[in-house]
Amino acid sequence: MSAVLHGTRCPACGRVATPPEPYGCERCGALVDTLEPLELPASGVVHATATVHRHHRPEPVTPFTVVEVVLDGGPALKGVLVAGSDPVAIGDRVRGEVQDGRLMLEKER
Ligand SMILES: [Zn+2]
Repeated sequence: MSAVLHGTRCPACGRVATPPEPYGCERCGALVDTLEPLELPASGVVHATATVHRHHRPEPVTPFTVVEVVLDGGPALKGVLVAGSDPVAIGDRVRGEVQDGRLMLEKER
């Protein structure tokens, strides 16, 4: 499992965002047509985790783990640890892909 995430980089302040910022840079206000498109690997380091035991939707099936990952070369994003992945802790490396609009992650081996 590995994929690319689409994003933007602001040439004025260097802010990297994914998904792409639709209106301009949220940090410095640079106009959207000045932002540079870029691709980020869907991999990085675990920054935080939380296990969800009760959820108002049927999917994902509980319990599941939400992972905040600091992407390689990019910002932090939240994703869901796929069923069957080894458990993760802060500092572990994970990789993933977007499935149905959700970043699904697994521990790198
Ligand atoms: Zn900026």
